[in-house]
Amino acid sequence: MRAIILGSSAGGGLPQWNCGCPHCNAARAGDGDVRARHQSSICVSADGERWVLINASPDVRSQLAATPELWPRGTRGSPVRAVALTNADIDHAAGLLVLREGGAPALYCTARVEEALTDGLRILPALEAYGAVHVRRVEPGVATPVRDRDGVPTGVSLRAFTVASKPPPYMAGRHRDDPRGDLAGDTVGFAITADGRDEALVYVPGVRDLDDALRAELCRARCALIDGTFFTDDELVVMGASLKTSRTMGHAPLTGPGGLVEFLDGVAGPRKVLIHINNSNPVLRDGGAARAELAAHGIDVSHDGMQLRW
Ligand SMILES: [Zn+2]
Repeated sequence: MRAIILGSSAGGGLPQWNCGCPHCNAARAGDGDVRARHQSSICVSADGERWVLINASPDVRSQLAATPELWPRGTRGSPVRAVALTNADIDHAAGLLVLREGGAPALYCTARVEEALTDGLRILPALEAYGAVHVRRVEPGVATPVRDRDGVPTGVSLRAFTVASKPPPYMAGRHRDDPRGDLAGDTVGFAITADGRDEALVYVPGVRDLDDALRAELCRARCALIDGTFFTDDELVVMGASLKTSRTMGHAPLTGPGGLVEFLDGVAGPRKVLIHINNSNPVLRDGGAARAELAAHGIDVSHDGMQLRW
């Protein structure tokens, strides 16, 4: 199995269009130790020919153009046979609008994500005007072989598991009475395997609560590709960019009590790689102190174009 990191940044990307912070300015200059990054997305394949895109970022057109594995093999058509979404955030779903020519690929998501894209963002009704939209429900806990629009297997299986994060802002407050709360399927992680196999890459680009269920998923995996959005809980507050903390935005911070670094110290086995890194995060600086701190805990930071095999 192979994965290619198409976008290692959180929403906004690096540089973010309206941000003049030192990281964004260094990425614009292109001559320093902060690399430019697209917004959060990966693609996975069992055979190198049929690929499943996981999350469709607003940068998807540039991401596909930069990745030879995803170039068309003939006059029309794409090796991208299906798209799966971990949630309905704009930075994970807006790219669906870019993939409309010829009809959108088969789409795999939870019922809650489908509802958000239908009644909230209204992307799915808009896409229907360009061709049939093939939505296939993902049920948490059930391994699902991913098939293309015509039902042909891709060789990739996804097993979703719910993680506590938060619904996208445009859906906030719609399900206040749901007893499942933040575990209702607004956000999932995926255990990604070849059909019929157990060796998994676990992909979790957004998670707020680091619990025993997540620990068990990660301990079983060959590779953990996980939410590295913020280094500290009050990172945006300190830089004067926002009043929101990491946790109120649905992301466990890397450091501090109950942070991801501490949590991953209790996970033995998988290779540990961070993704969905916000432009404010000091781990973006190659060779910096924050990166060294992660390395001391055996944690890597992904970059665009990085390839993983398992
Ligand atoms: Zn910035």
